[in-house]
Amino acid sequence: MMNKRPLELYIHIPFCARKCAYCDFLSFAVPERVYRDYMDKLIEEIYGQGLCFSEWCVTSIFLGGGTPSILPPKFIEELFAVLYECFAIAEDAEITIEANPGTLTMEKLEVYRESGINRLSLGLQSADDQELRVLGRIHTFDDFLKSYQRARQAGFDNINVDLMSALPGQDVHSWKNTLRKVVMLKPEHISAYSLIIEEGTPFYDWFGGEDALEGSSGKGGLEGGIPGGGTKAGRREDALVGNILPGDGRMRRMELPPLPDEDTDREIYHLTRQFLAAQGFERYEISNYARPGYECRHNIGYWTGVDYLGLGLGASSYIGGYRYHNTADFGEYLSLNLKKGGAAARDIMELSVEEKMEEFMFLGLRMMRGVSGSEFLGRFGRNMWNLYAVALRRLEGQGLIEIHTPWVRLTDKGIDVSNRVLCEFLL
Ligand code: SF4
Repeated sequence: MMNKRPLELYIHIPFCARKCAYCDFLSFAVPERVYRDYMDKLIEEIYGQGLCFSEWCVTSIFLGGGTPSILPPKFIEELFAVLYECFAIAEDAEITIEANPGTLTMEKLEVYRESGINRLSLGLQSADDQELRVLGRIHTFDDFLKSYQRARQAGFDNINVDLMSALPGQDVHSWKNTLRKVVMLKPEHISAYSLIIEEGTPFYDWFGGEDALEGSSGKGGLEGGIPGGGTKAGRREDALVGNILPGDGRMRRMELPPLPDEDTDREIYHLTRQFLAAQGFERYEISNYARPGYECRHNIGYWTGVDYLGLGLGASSYIGGYRYHNTADFGEYLSLNLKKGGAAARDIMELSVEEKMEEFMFLGLRMMRGVSGSEFLGRFGRNMWNLYAVALRRLEGQGLIEIHTPWVRLTDKGIDVSNRVLCEFLL
């Protein structure tokens, strides 16, 4: 294993019990019998790809979606048996599964542990049931509490909780309440993203209209909503009405509260950092907080340019400077012959050296430790200080970055306007 190249695996499970009103991820609800067809194809893809990656050592696996925890546990058992058969997986690999409260049973959690899964990422978003209803989530805060306690009982000692701020009707008080309730549980990791109104979602129709701007709420990978620097859809103050699916699954029309205004949004953002810091959570990336030693290794791999292989519908890969993604067409994916590996890959693109340098800066600066000029030199044979001399001088002068040779990192002020700062590193 020692001399093998490191590789991260991302495995996409596109199924959800139902679609949340803000979600633009590649996910959908299907009858349960379809799970078998998908898993058969995914396993075929794993066998095919395993042949191509025999010289690599898997350092992390992330099972994301969608809702991987919606699958019956036997599928997870089967999936991991095949993964261990086809890939060399490091003994200390970080193996994460995303789970939706309301879909987790003790039986599932035990199977996860037995399959080698050692990190659980729970999508809570809010501790306020009314906010959860507006989002179209399938669970209540109480469901989350039960899932969390069950996970601890099952032996999970590395749990992430996903939170989302700037929700309709949210104020500083309700956000602080969510933070307080979550830190009381002492999770090891918290991700806190701002809601972004994405085109093509019910939220876009209800809140975004034609003024909506582009952005991403980010999930388990390269893309991340950028609080402060993040974009926000145009706001409407008039009473909004949307179709909401409450717990019983029937569609009802409901008056929606407005989105928080910019001042509230900003206050929420600053409160998050201060509150979590006081509770022993270190912010190690713009939207991610961890207790020391529990930073997500899989995501750090993405941000530092480790190769990753995406398996499953629509999954993205970055291997040896080439970027591509699997087909996002469900019917097409199921009909492909994947026995030889790579047949699902689409839009294969080789990154130029300039693009790789830009990514190094873009992704590296999202982390609080910043980027290292020595590493830049080692990787690209170019002097970062010369290449970006003008931008570095200007941004330092504006107090947006700080330089402690060989490191450059964003200041708090720089994080507030991170989108603008990061654009300065385009070549
Ligand atoms: S937000 Fe998560 S749970 Fe909701 S539909 Fe999207 S992927 Fe599924």
